[in-house]
Amino acid sequence: MTAADTADTIAAPPLGGPSLPQERRVVTSIPGPRSQELLARKAAAVAAGVGHTAPIEAVAAGGGVVVDADGNSLIDLGSGIAVTTVGNAHPKVVEAVQAQVAQFTHTCFMISPYESYVAVAEALNRITPGDHEKKSALFNSGAEAVENAVKIARKFTKKQAVVAFDHGYHGRTNLTMALTAKSMPYKSGFGPFASEIYRAPLSYPFRDGLSGPDAAKRAISVIEKQVGADNLAAVIIEPIQGEGGFIVPADGFLPALAEWCRANGVVFIADEIQTGFARTGAMFASEGFGVVPDLITTAKGIAGGLPLAAVTGRAEIMDASHAGGLGGTYGGNPVACAAALASIDVFESENLSQRAREVGEILVSRLTAMQAGDPRIGDVRGRGAMVAAELVDPATGDPDAALTAAVAKECIARGVIVLTCGTHGNVIRFLPPLSIGDDLLNEGLDVLAEVLAAA
Ligand SMILES: *Cc1c(COP(=O)(O)O)cnc(C)c1O
Repeated sequence: MTAADTADTIAAPPLGGPSLPQERRVVTSIPGPRSQELLARKAAAVAAGVGHTAPIEAVAAGGGVVVDADGNSLIDLGSGIAVTTVGNAHPKVVEAVQAQVAQFTHTCFMISPYESYVAVAEALNRITPGDHEKKSALFNSGAEAVENAVKIARKFTKKQAVVAFDHGYHGRTNLTMALTAKSMPYKSGFGPFASEIYRAPLSYPFRDGLSGPDAAKRAISVIEKQVGADNLAAVIIEPIQGEGGFIVPADGFLPALAEWCRANGVVFIADEIQTGFARTGAMFASEGFGVVPDLITTAKGIAGGLPLAAVTGRAEIMDASHAGGLGGTYGGNPVACAAALASIDVFESENLSQRAREVGEILVSRLTAMQAGDPRIGDVRGRGAMVAAELVDPATGDPDAALTAAVAKECIARGVIVLTCGTHGNVIRFLPPLSIGDDLLNEGLDVLAEVLAAA
């Protein structure tokens, strides 16, 4: 190796996982020079429609940090949108993936079935709410799971209409764009959208002040008048709206809706793609609201970062489709299934629901303390480690999207990855990996407090 080579040699990136130093370390401005180089290549090579939140080149992640190519170590309060709930590069996930990838990477489950797919289905049937007989089918992405839940509900009920809610987010494919409420950026210019989709009003206590039963009455009235149970195959709802602003419905809203669905031959689908897998302090958020969905869609946190999704639900509904009606080339890929089995083991053996509640207590107590001295924080809400602060104009209560964007941007510049959400773009959401330590979480919130104070 010549001296010139040595000078140019980039230190090998550190291995990810929990052995990464658990620290916030900002050694360049963000983005640093190497990250800027990648972002320039991205701009030239990757379609403009694919955005990014943190302007970095990620090279390793684990515990509660993401490390970039410039040697910065950022506190991760987003988990890649509630995906790496068990922690990035969790050792059990890494081991399971490495073993599987060396054995076989694909056969197509619809050609030559393998055990891990069946074991994931068994695990989902066991851990999802309700003790009725259940079955599952596996897919690649959340949107694909939602599409299939709708297919299954239509086939079972022999009806076509589907009701989704204000502020709902269900994906970016054609049917799921139709189900999603927010036009910009998810739908604008991408129509025409799938037909027979209707929208009902949500329970949004901070904005509507309605009790759960009253909000349910309002929604059911809209559904009965504008659609009619005779035409309605399914109602799909996120127990807590994710992209829509971490909106926690008032108590009694979801049970009343589920009860109406049961009484009217309508399939109640809980989209737990963001809320599932210990995130809200229970394995599934539905449990916390006292509802047992007919079908539940899962993805995101299911497999420690590998792409996998599922529909799980009542056996008689799940079995409504003829053979060959459900599936896909990659659905339930063996490497993703190995990662899911390892992740589900971690959720249970490390009692991550309990950890989510502890993380949530820190988040809520710190944010409510900030709110006490800052009228721009209109609402602090969430369940478990799915917590948000809604930022408003103190004089009018109107959403303050500009402040929200500025705060998130400055947090990232100071080495803390925070995400925003909300129909009005005025919600800062916290979805830390449950492998984050208390100290790091508190340091991230210290940075947020400094940034808010300066904003
Ligand atoms: C992310 C998300 C989806 C879409 O999942 P993808 O894997 O991005 O297709 C659907 N529903 C909810 C509630 C989500 O949070």
